[in-house]
Amino acid sequence: MSQEPDLWFDPAKCLIGGHWVEPASGEELPLLNPSTGDRIGSIARGTSADIDAAVAAAETARQGEWGKVTAVERGRILTRLGQLVLERVEHLARIEAIDVGKPLKQARADAVALARYLEFYGGAADKLHGETIPYLDGYTVYTLREPHGVTGHIVPWNYPMQIIGRSVGAALATGNACVLKPAEDACLTALAFADLAKQAGLPDGALNVVPGLGSEAGAALSAHPGVHHVSFTGSVATGSQVQVAAARNVVPVTLELGGKSPQLVFDDADLEAALPFLVNAGIQNAGQTCSASSRILVHRSVQDQVIERMAARYASLRVGPALEDLDVGPLISEKQKTIVGGFLEKGRDLAVAAEGVLQNASDGGNYVKPTLFAGVGADHVLARDEIFGPVQVIIPFDDEDEAIAIANGTDYGLVASVWSRDGARQMRLAKKIRTGQVFINNYGAGGGVELPFGGMGKSGHGREKGFEALYGFTTLKTVAAYHG
Ligand code: NAD
Repeated sequence: MSQEPDLWFDPAKCLIGGHWVEPASGEELPLLNPSTGDRIGSIARGTSADIDAAVAAAETARQGEWGKVTAVERGRILTRLGQLVLERVEHLARIEAIDVGKPLKQARADAVALARYLEFYGGAADKLHGETIPYLDGYTVYTLREPHGVTGHIVPWNYPMQIIGRSVGAALATGNACVLKPAEDACLTALAFADLAKQAGLPDGALNVVPGLGSEAGAALSAHPGVHHVSFTGSVATGSQVQVAAARNVVPVTLELGGKSPQLVFDDADLEAALPFLVNAGIQNAGQTCSASSRILVHRSVQDQVIERMAARYASLRVGPALEDLDVGPLISEKQKTIVGGFLEKGRDLAVAAEGVLQNASDGGNYVKPTLFAGVGADHVLARDEIFGPVQVIIPFDDEDEAIAIANGTDYGLVASVWSRDGARQMRLAKKIRTGQVFINNYGAGGGVELPFGGMGKSGHGREKGFEALYGFTTLKTVAAYHG
């Protein structure tokens, strides 16, 4: 097996006010490698005391040095940070591989995406401005876009680098001071990122990182009265708790939650072009992707062809250790493996069209064979609930109206794609499908950092990515000056 990467920072510490410190509890949490199940180190068990210190450090930074940094200089710092990330793509990818279980190709793509967010938001930092508003005689009226202040960022384990890039990157670009709580199952690249941010010249306290349990550090951050905006990415259940906690302080919240995203394959679709997207969008990151396409809705007349092609691809999927860089890695944890196993059990009554193949998968790793179920009814639990594992269901439909009803028929509304050569149908469906992003004859559009992203329904609210995120991380002040 390939060599494990060096960690140049101490993973058992928090970064608070520019200093690497032990958590107040003095306690650690285990750092486990999902590919083997082995304990490979420890991380800090941050608690409310560390969150208090981190929020205070962020407040000091925004009222002090960080608050005085100009927009153009914020942009330069982020651009330098992006460059440092780009120079370390391979190293960061290896760290993510042992922490999250991502095959190297996918982990490298995450590191490059992190750099892209920093380039994008670094370049945008000095391009966000207010407006002048024509008003009554004797007045000059204008608006100012100001940072919220201290922003809290609660991040899940599935795409740490990308989610930190889109959320912390946009928050820093607009002058907020950040407190980041990475997931307890995957915080190494968050700590690496924080160390690189120091190297890039980010003033002390502008970014603070407190690893720890969600119920301790996460809950303390979302409920903290010194936090002025909370950005949360994770499950619906936790997101709802975070929103309630933030509501007690009457602060805005961005929620990026789960999904059950469909691809709609019509009888006039280019199946050859669609095939790689149909499968990859479901098994990427072992299906642990909020925008994973876990439902393939197929016109009944082409169902057999789609099943046959997808099944052939599934049978070739190799599942094994992240550092071996196969098609699919392990799931993040034993807990996630149990959850996905429970769903596979619920699919006992369904036809399994194909499965992937395990390769060098040690017993201690959290491996699940990718599984494709065919001919599934839209009401089946596997067609409605988010599984967050490498499992896809093929659901047949007979006409466009039925396809739309099935597509919109879950609690979620994150993304969807339409495969059809009919331009009018493409336009109709783009309007009728209730999701935050709709793709036509593609899926994911390469994940572009420029494209606003977020959900409808229980997939959440607020938009991150693109220029839109800069509005979300600022508040608008109207100044009306009377001069006669
Ligand atoms: P999770 O909700 O359990 O954890 C997410 C984060 O919240 C972690 O940092 C965790 O420590 C923290 N947390 C847990 N309990 C908390 C509490 N009471 N208060 C505050 N913070 C708390 O989710 P997960 O299992 O880490 O991630 C999987 C889920 O995230 C899936 O449902 C997936 O769809 C969703 N997700 C969504 C997106 C998106 O952009 N829409 C991206 C990635 C993941």
